[in-house]
Amino acid sequence: MGKRLLSWFGIKEENETMMKKYLYEANMRSSIYMSVLVIVLEMWMIIRMTRTIIQDDLYDLFWTLTEKYYANYFLLLSAGLLMLLYAMRALYDHRKCRYLAVVVIAFCAAVCVFEVWMISKYSSASRTISDLQNYILLLCAGIGIIGFAVILLKNGEDKKWESLSVLYIFSLVCINFGIVISANSFKEGGQILTFLTMELFVICLLTWRPYVGFIVLTVSYLLFYFKIDQMIDLNTVKKFEGVIDFSTIPTGLGDGIKINGFTMWLSTLLLCISNYNKIKLQAQKDESLLKVNSYLSKISVEDELTGIHNMVYFRSEADKLMNYVTTDKENSVFLFFDIVGFKFYNEKYGFHAGNELLKNVATMIEQRFTKSLVSRFSDDHFVVLTKYDGCEGIVKDLCEKIHGLERELHLSLKCGAYRPGDDEHDPSLCCDRARFACNSIKKDYATDFRLYDKALEEEFRLKQYIVNNIDTAIEKGYIKVFYQPVVSVEDGTIVGLEALARWKDPEYGLLPPGAFIEVLEEYRQIHKLDSCIIRQVCREYRRAYDNKLPFAPVSINFSRLDFELCDIVNVLKDHAAEFSVPQNYIDVEVTESALTDKQDLLKAALVRLKELGYKVWLDDFGSGYSSLNVLKDYQFDVLKIDMKFLSDFDRNDKSRPILDNIVELSKKLGMVSLTEGVEDERQYEFLDSIGCKMAQGYLFSKPVPIDDLRERIYKGELKINDKYMK
Ligand code: C2E
Ligand code: MG
Ligand code: MG
Repeated sequence: MGKRLLSWFGIKEENETMMKKYLYEANMRSSIYMSVLVIVLEMWMIIRMTRTIIQDDLYDLFWTLTEKYYANYFLLLSAGLLMLLYAMRALYDHRKCRYLAVVVIAFCAAVCVFEVWMISKYSSASRTISDLQNYILLLCAGIGIIGFAVILLKNGEDKKWESLSVLYIFSLVCINFGIVISANSFKEGGQILTFLTMELFVICLLTWRPYVGFIVLTVSYLLFYFKIDQMIDLNTVKKFEGVIDFSTIPTGLGDGIKINGFTMWLSTLLLCISNYNKIKLQAQKDESLLKVNSYLSKISVEDELTGIHNMVYFRSEADKLMNYVTTDKENSVFLFFDIVGFKFYNEKYGFHAGNELLKNVATMIEQRFTKSLVSRFSDDHFVVLTKYDGCEGIVKDLCEKIHGLERELHLSLKCGAYRPGDDEHDPSLCCDRARFACNSIKKDYATDFRLYDKALEEEFRLKQYIVNNIDTAIEKGYIKVFYQPVVSVEDGTIVGLEALARWKDPEYGLLPPGAFIEVLEEYRQIHKLDSCIIRQVCREYRRAYDNKLPFAPVSINFSRLDFELCDIVNVLKDHAAEFSVPQNYIDVEVTESALTDKQDLLKAALVRLKELGYKVWLDDFGSGYSSLNVLKDYQFDVLKIDMKFLSDFDRNDKSRPILDNIVELSKKLGMVSLTEGVEDERQYEFLDSIGCKMAQGYLFSKPVPIDDLRERIYKGELKINDKYMK
């Protein structure tokens, strides 16, 4: 309540910055109108009076010029000129005010000379003491105004305290003028309008804080009242036998005038308060707008989580740096950092711990790369533009520090570096290359730092080519499906085929999936490829069926991103419907790593696939961290055991019992087991001995075009299960 009252009277505001600015500007603007009005009015008054005196008696002119009235008119005129000068400087270019300042100085200098002359004459003339006071007052005012005008000419910039003190002086002169002129005319039986006009003028045209308005109004009303009271000539009081006849005492301001005066006082005060509150409201509105704006501009360049700069800021600043002639490009390097293991850290310890880790890493990078451009790009990726000399040492040091932050999970910081050439100006491309160098060592445990070099350059070009040409490749039929047989361990016959993508490029030749799957996933284009494979498989089924060619159920690899980037289940459903492919001819393979994030989306999609009658296989089982969790949470038809168990077969004694156990587990969980990567008979026999149901590997066939496979079937090298013989 107290706070509100204080704010209502303008004594203490919540946020003063904007408020002060608004009050100041509003007052400076009003001051211009007011001072122009005052200047014009006073000049007119002075000219009018001078003309009357000249007509009456020219000789008396100089004496009259210094009389009280005149002194006040001159004073107000000078204050008006000064106010105009300062208000204009506050709002406009100070150079525009120079001419005005010169005019004011010239005018005041003339007044001063005149006053000095009058004072020197004073001694020889029989004038009253109050006339001398007027000369001195005007002389002082003239000198003061010249002083202010000179200060203004010297200091170009707007000084608030100067303008505000001139505003106060101007207001006081106005009110003083109102009191003096009105009191004098009241004495002569006239009205008190000038006083009221001046009050309105100063209190309502300018914006005061209500408490200031209250003080100015009350003090000036009281002064005026006492001034008039003083004027009541007590000599006119009649005495009756030595006793004062009270009935003859002049009443001074009558009750009517007092009540009117009070009403004027009150309404002026209310106007002052309402004026102030209007300005306050506007200021508050702008204040909040300003806050929102500054917040927006802050978050547009700052990373919300870590507080360091974001990608947008980095790009624009790096762009400027790359284009400055003074930048030592030869010694510049773009560094791209990636925290390997962050995803698992996040999963294991929760988002909060993950965020803390990111903040720590951001601070460490920023502290080590002082005088460099440091930013967080996205997720756990950071980019730095810095000097090449010595950067590798700093990176190594950082990597060790990050390594020290790991708990039970392995954490490491990888850094890719790119040194821009002289003619390179695009920071995005430089970041991309540094990132590419970083990605190239992500799986390499022993390497933390990799400089982008010629070898990487070739790879990078291929990657760019893939991203830019996936649509063309699909359109022109460069994407081919190779089929790799899946055999029944029991009798060695083909019971399935895995569809594996190949890119037969006119420029690069036959590209294996290793060259393009990850790139397409990184650039979120993988769904295009997978949709294309689905379509080709469905078409092949129709061709085989119509021409009575050997064929078996095909398992198609789905990327985890397919579920995000498109409605892949619908794509499958539509293509299968178009070529009338029965559900038991297509199976879906998803890798276990797909199931670790965006779980809800995936769970729903897997349930839908099952509802539609498709079988879902878990691919590469045992290659990730959370294999067993995945088995607990989802129901799969086939468990496809990763080939790493077989590749270790001879070197690692543990491989056999592990495989044995996994096969056992799959039986218990009601899944069919399939082992990938069977390359020799011994492995095959082992799988048979542990009861693994299906096998896939080079021992039977590499992935080949379907016609090649059929040829081998026709030749009898491979045998298709009777179930699928047409
Ligand atoms: P995957 O699904 O685990 O496919 C098995 C990979 O192992 C194939 O490699 C296959 O050629 C290889 N392989 C099969 N038997 C043996 C063997 O006995 N020894 C060895 N050393 N390797 C064997 P490929 O065709 O290069 O595919 C690699 C990966 O690319 C696939 O792994 C799969 O994850 C992905 N991929 C392939 N085609 C597609 C596709 O159309 N869509 C998606 N999303 N991913 C695909
Ligand atoms: Mg697969
Ligand atoms: Mg696999």
